[in-house]
Amino acid sequence: MADDDLPRLLRDLGATAVATLLAQHVDDGRGYCRACSLPQAGPSRWPCTLRAAALAARDLARRAR
Ligand SMILES: [Zn+2]
Repeated sequence: MADDDLPRLLRDLGATAVATLLAQHVDDGRGYCRACSLPQAGPSRWPCTLRAAALAARDLARRAR
């Protein structure tokens, strides 16, 4: 799987899905992602992979317009 597959997938899901990801994956104030800090997974450093992918997806969508 190429590095840019995830951003493309998210872009195809639409602006609302990307905006939701960006709204959920925020810094919890201690340098960790709020949405990724699941008990079973442990805290994830922020910005997390999903936020980076969502930002890239938003850029892709902007460039396409
Ligand atoms: Zn996250």
